[in-house]
Amino acid sequence: MRIAIDGPAGSGKSTVAHAISDRFGFTLLDTGAMYRSVALTCLERGIDPNDAEAATKVAQEIEITFGQGPAGQTVQVDGHDVTSAIRTPEVDKAVSPVAAVPAVREAMVAQQRALGAVGDVVAEGRDIGTVVFPDAEVKVFLTADPAARALRRAVQRDGGDAAKDANATADEAAVAEILADIKRRDAYDSSREASPLKPAADAHHIDSSLLSVDEVVAQIADLMEAARS
Ligand code: C5P
Repeated sequence: MRIAIDGPAGSGKSTVAHAISDRFGFTLLDTGAMYRSVALTCLERGIDPNDAEAATKVAQEIEITFGQGPAGQTVQVDGHDVTSAIRTPEVDKAVSPVAAVPAVREAMVAQQRALGAVGDVVAEGRDIGTVVFPDAEVKVFLTADPAARALRRAVQRDGGDAAKDANATADEAAVAEILADIKRRDAYDSSREASPLKPAADAHHIDSSLLSVDEVVAQIADLMEAARS
């Protein structure tokens, strides 16, 4: 079975996809990590993220692999661990222009389909239900209001988990900065021509603003059950 989870930055896709992978033993495919890996490599090589030709070369050249570490899934580029390096504010800023390049997407989608051909997969991103796995048995479009998304990301950066702690707080300036970044990325990702962020026509919409991770996972478990019967 393939489960596609799409949605904007910070909507909880990653937490929910991890939970499903743990609970049902599905392979986890974090496609955002792949675009982040291309963006990071561009930055490391001194390539302007807006240089479509150079970014395409990087996307076609590098080998992105996933592994398993004590703290969860790890990401490697050409064998080097980039798990934390792809989550910096610099990469947050560089990733959207890189991901808007059609040839970069072509290279990533080919790899994603190959990685997804292994059996049960839960894939998260922006175009999984529309482009990568349009025939996924379960498609979810996960949203949350921007303030909730910014707070979650800020708490996550401080090493906490707002999904587990309803009273979690973070520095106001940090939340404001993340909120601005999230809004900028959403606008960029939704308005680009190549595979914009949008729900598949047959996606189930879940608003996670007021739901716990367990509640979202329970809703997806029901969808899995319905898809099997
Ligand atoms: O999910 P995450 O925030 O890590 O994704 C980082 C960026 O990668 C997104 O803002 C988007 O520009 C790009 N992306 C994409 N298509 C995907 C996954 C991520 O364009 N399937």
